[in-house]
Amino acid sequence: MAETEMMEGSGNQITVKCAFCNGTGKDPFGLLSTLATCQVCGGTGRVTVSEPFVRCPFCNGTGVHPSRRYTCIVCHGKGVVPAPPEGEREVCPECGGSGKSHSQWNVPCTKCNGKGFISLKAKGVQ
Ligand SMILES: [Zn+2]
Ligand SMILES: [Zn+2]
Ligand SMILES: [Zn+2]
Repeated sequence: MAETEMMEGSGNQITVKCAFCNGTGKDPFGLLSTLATCQVCGGTGRVTVSEPFVRCPFCNGTGVHPSRRYTCIVCHGKGVVPAPPEGEREVCPECGGSGKSHSQWNVPCTKCNGKGFISLKAKGVQ
């Protein structure tokens, strides 16, 4: 399993392909016009994220809200969410990592806010 696009980092800001427009820089739904600029990356096709990060479970990394033609409310269209390093997080016991509420699939899990994991550090000392 070579995850070349998601290497472990040390809190750096890195640039990844914009998930919402898939790097095209255009609004994927063309709500205003087919030439409309992607609201997530501002037309550059790239977004900056903080490392380490995980793929957003709520939108499955697409950056698109599961039930609407909007940006994902968890990752804001980036397709990834900042996460504590491996070993400092655990799978959310509430949603089992899906990031989705039990009662409504299109609503983020309230325990992890849709991220699918819980920070172990956040539980204890700051
Ligand atoms: Zn974009
Ligand atoms: Zn998302
Ligand atoms: Zn959860």
